[in-house]
Amino acid sequence: MKTRGIEASLREQGLRMTRQRKILLELLEQSGAHLDAEHLYRLARERDPKLNRVTVYRTLKLLKDSGLVDELDLMHWEGEAHYYETRMKQEHAHVVCLRCGKVEEFYGEPLRRMRRQIENHLGFQVLMVRTEAGGYCSHCRVLRAREMEQAAEGARVRNARRTKR
Ligand SMILES: [Zn+2]
Ligand SMILES: [Zn+2]
Repeated sequence: MKTRGIEASLREQGLRMTRQRKILLELLEQSGAHLDAEHLYRLARERDPKLNRVTVYRTLKLLKDSGLVDELDLMHWEGEAHYYETRMKQEHAHVVCLRCGKVEEFYGEPLRRMRRQIENHLGFQVLMVRTEAGGYCSHCRVLRAREMEQAAEGARVRNARRTKR
């Protein structure tokens, strides 16, 4: 997204464009990834070495409170870490690999349908939807199958030794 877009979104929320707000929103826009606060802090420092941790964390909270940034826990695959992404993206679900932490984004009609059904059936005005799925990515599925095989093989060997004794 262009800087003008960022500035307009800030203005809609009644916020002034400051250097640290601009840096954080740009980083989130450009990376397209789901970054935790510490990672964002390191990237922000590369742009402006004068930024300190407190400012970055405080700015992140402000952007979150004003609805410009979304905070995710991504199935807690890494414990308590929280991840951030811009809310200016199209609505999507997060699909998290619980083994390697890879995060895929799922876009599509089913999400919009769910939102409409919630609104129709429950009479809610839905402001936000957060959908997450956890499992194993295609790469980790192969590795896991191999690990399970090795574990089974190990158990067979141990059993064979035990019966020999
Ligand atoms: Zn994986
Ligand atoms: Zn996302």
